[in-house]
Amino acid sequence: MTRWIVACISHETNSFSPVPTTLDKFGIGAGPFYGRDAYDNFRKARIPFGAFLDRAEARGVEVVTPIVARCSPSGPVDDAAFEAIVAPLVEAAKAGADALFLDLHGAMITDRYDDGDGELLARVRAAAPGMPICLALDLHANISPAMMAAVDVAVGYQTFPHIDMYETGERAADIMLARMDGRQRPEIVWGSAPILPLGIRTNTAQEPLRTLVAMAREAEKEPGILAVSVFSGFWLGDSPDTALSVVVMTDGDRPRAEAVRDRILAAGWAQRTDFDFRSEPLADSVALAKSLADGPGDGPVVLVDHADNCNSGGICDSMTVIGEALRQGLTGVAAAPLCDPEAAAILAAAGVGATATVDLGEKMPAAALVQRSDPMRLTGVVRAVSDGQFTVTGPVYTGTRINLGPTVAFDVGPMTIVVSSRRTEPYDHGVFQVVGIDPAAQRFLIVKSKTQFRPTYEPIAKGIVYCAGIGVATSDLALFRFQRLRRPIYPVDLDATWDRA
Ligand SMILES: [Zn+2]
Repeated sequence: MTRWIVACISHETNSFSPVPTTLDKFGIGAGPFYGRDAYDNFRKARIPFGAFLDRAEARGVEVVTPIVARCSPSGPVDDAAFEAIVAPLVEAAKAGADALFLDLHGAMITDRYDDGDGELLARVRAAAPGMPICLALDLHANISPAMMAAVDVAVGYQTFPHIDMYETGERAADIMLARMDGRQRPEIVWGSAPILPLGIRTNTAQEPLRTLVAMAREAEKEPGILAVSVFSGFWLGDSPDTALSVVVMTDGDRPRAEAVRDRILAAGWAQRTDFDFRSEPLADSVALAKSLADGPGDGPVVLVDHADNCNSGGICDSMTVIGEALRQGLTGVAAAPLCDPEAAAILAAAGVGATATVDLGEKMPAAALVQRSDPMRLTGVVRAVSDGQFTVTGPVYTGTRINLGPTVAFDVGPMTIVVSSRRTEPYDHGVFQVVGIDPAAQRFLIVKSKTQFRPTYEPIAKGIVYCAGIGVATSDLALFRFQRLRRPIYPVDLDATWDRA
C-alpha cells in the first residue's frame, strides 16, 4: 500500500509588522486543522492541498493529512507556533510514507529563523531521508538554498491575483508522480537576482512579470523542461533569501535548464526599474481625489490606503490618509474598517445616538517604522453598533464569513469611520453595510487595500486614487530599516550591480 502525506503550511511574513503571529492565528479562530479535520475542511478547496488529494484519490493511495495551517500575513511567527506546526509533519514523516506533498507559501520568517520554510523542510528531510518531497509554492515565495536542497519537486503559482492555485498543485503533483513511477528523473535548477520586487508591482497582467511569466511558459515547450516558475518573493520579508528567483524543473537537461533560468533572470534584471514603485506625495493624491469627485461621472472616488493593507501585514489602524482627507475638507466620506478595539468598545458602550470623543487609531506600536502618526482625537455621533459579522456577497472570497468583532459607525461630520475590533481587507461592501452604510451613495470611500478591492469597487467607483499613507505595508522602502536582506539589492540600493547580468 502506498501512503502519502499531504499538508499545507502558509505564512507570508512581514518582518516589520507588529501584528503577532501566534498558533491560534493559523486557522479561523482556534489554530491549525489537524488530521481528519484538516482533510474534511479542505478536501474541496481550490488550493494545491485539494489538488494533491484529488491525485491521491485518483491513484487510490492511503493519505494522511497531519496539518493545514494557514494564516494571513503578519509579523514573524513566534517560536512556539513554529514548533507546534512542524511537529505533526515530522511525526508523520517518521511514521513512514512514500511521499510528502506540501502546499507551502514559502515566505515564512520566525522569531528564530530567517528561513522558516527551509528549517521546516530540513527537519522533515532529516526525519525521513529517503522520502521524496513535492512543493507547490506561492508566487510570493522567497526561495532559499535550504528549501531547494530539501525537496525533489517545486512548482509555483504563475498568476497574481492568484487564480491558478489548484492547477499549480496538479502540475507539481504530476512531476512528482512521473518521478515516483520512474518515468522521469526531475531535477531542480534555480537561482535569484538581486532585485526586491515591490508587491504593488507583482501583478502578472502587468510588466515586468507579464514578460517574465510569458518567457517561463514559452520555455516549458522546450524538450527536457518540465516546469518553470518565476517567484517575485515577498518584499516585506527582511531575510537574505528575499529576491526575484526562478526555479526550473528539468528531466535531466541541466545545461538547458540553467540557460532558461539565466535568460529569465537577466530579463528581470534588465526590467528592474519596473519592479520599483514611486508614490505621489499624500497631499497631492488626496487633492487629486477631490478634483475627481468634482468632475463628471457618478459614484464615489476610492482612496486606496495601500500602506496599511492588513493582507500584507498592515495593522489596519493608520490615520494618515483619513487625517489628510479631513485636513483637505473632503465631505461625504466613509472609511472602513479602522481596527481599534479600544475605541470600538468605548463607542459601542456609548450607544447609538450618543455623542462621544475618542482617541482613534495608531494604537499598536510599530517599532520598525521610521515614522508614525499619533492617534487623532475626534468627536462624533455613534450611528450604528454591530457585532461585525457578515457573509461576503461580492466576487472576492464569495460566501466566506467575516468577523470584525464589535463594530460601530462613527460619524465625525464630513466622514463616517467604521471602527472595528478585528482586521479584514475591505474587499467586500459588507465592511460598510454591516453598520448600515451604502458605499455607492458616498462621495468618497477610504479602503485599506492594494489589489483585492478592485473587483468589488471598480464597478461603483468614478475614480480610484492610490494614497501613500504611513504603514508597515508601505511601498516606500525609506520607511524601513532592512537588516537581513542580501546587499546590494535593487531598489533598496538604486546603484546595485549584478555580475551575472
Ligand atoms: Zn501571494
